Amino acid sequence: MNDIRIDCNFDSGNIDVLSTDGAKAKLTIRKDHQSEFAQWFHFRVSGAAGRELELAITGLNESAYPGGWPDYDTCVSEDREYWGRASSSFDKSADNGTLTIRYTPASDLAYFAYFAPYSMERHHDLVAEAAASEGVSYRHLGTTLDGQPIDCLEMGKGDTQVWLYARQHPGETQAEWWMEGALEVLTDPADTVGRELRRRCTFHIVPNCNPDGSRRGHLRTNGAGTNLNREWESPTADKSPEVLAIRNAMDATGVDFAMDVHGDEAIPVAFLAGYEGIPSWTDDHGERYYRYERILDRRTPDFQTEEGYNKSAAGKANLSMSTNQVAERFGATAMTLEMPYKDNPANPEPEQGWSPERCKMLARDCLASLLEFLDDDGK
Ligand SMILES: [Zn+2]
Repeated sequence: MNDIRIDCNFDSGNIDVLSTDGAKAKLTIRKDHQSEFAQWFHFRVSGAAGRELELAITGLNESAYPGGWPDYDTCVSEDREYWGRASSSFDKSADNGTLTIRYTPASDLAYFAYFAPYSMERHHDLVAEAAASEGVSYRHLGTTLDGQPIDCLEMGKGDTQVWLYARQHPGETQAEWWMEGALEVLTDPADTVGRELRRRCTFHIVPNCNPDGSRRGHLRTNGAGTNLNREWESPTADKSPEVLAIRNAMDATGVDFAMDVHGDEAIPVAFLAGYEGIPSWTDDHGERYYRYERILDRRTPDFQTEEGYNKSAAGKANLSMSTNQVAERFGATAMTLEMPYKDNPANPEPEQGWSPERCKMLARDCLASLLEFLDDDGK
């Protein structure tokens, strides 16, 4: 039988082929340009219809988050619309950490990725469709080092300034699927939650903070190898023009409520992180965040509060991270939303695991929770 062929020279592609033998291949993930991070992969296999593929991604003990591989099943699609899961197993002792993917495609093309990809073409579709909606205005916030626009969508007439931004870490594609769900709510004239939120709030939405890393197939950094979520204290035009542009725009509007949308490699559930440890912390300010978290927890089984990150000790918050910086700088109710790559073991969905569809549904619940949060606030 012929050897399979593997390609990744397309939007957000990432893999290096070490060898192929029939329907087997030995692979490794390329590091982000000018950085040590490696975890995102996205590639296409051709010539394998009806044959069981055995794809071994090696060297993963050196990946950014080795804890991401146990209990993880790879995302796979044959039509690039529906993303299911291919049974995968991790062996820490084989070839410095190997994820072995087994899958028998029905057709001659199959795409594999760490999570369902969100291409820059799809990003442009999303931004153009939203910008064409009633009551939405488009703002160009700045330009990336690779020359791509940093897109912002604005809507609503209320006094409460809400910033929603996603994909500082480009390999966390969950975040832009979430944005698609959020924009559906906020641009649908028939959606009562969206209508009421637009009456009370002004929204500033950056669906993709890191277009260069997205197109290059990075996990965590921009075109210059900068981790944007460590740049919020002192962003620069040379290293982090994306953060500089967004933070300058925030300075002009002020921020009351902010959500920074991410994915987490190891923890198999959705959760929030707040701003414990900022210098200006007060229990009243913190309680606004905890109240939002309780509302979201009540609204959907796809969110929980038991698992998450350790909270920073008093005065120890890292102000180079956006949630801490935005809470400190503006007194905002700010938070980082994390969604999983794996599936929630308490509420599993065997065909797709955590999926684009669930990212979008969680966005709906996040916005409905925001409305309830504002109601309780008496505003
Ligand atoms: Zn992240």
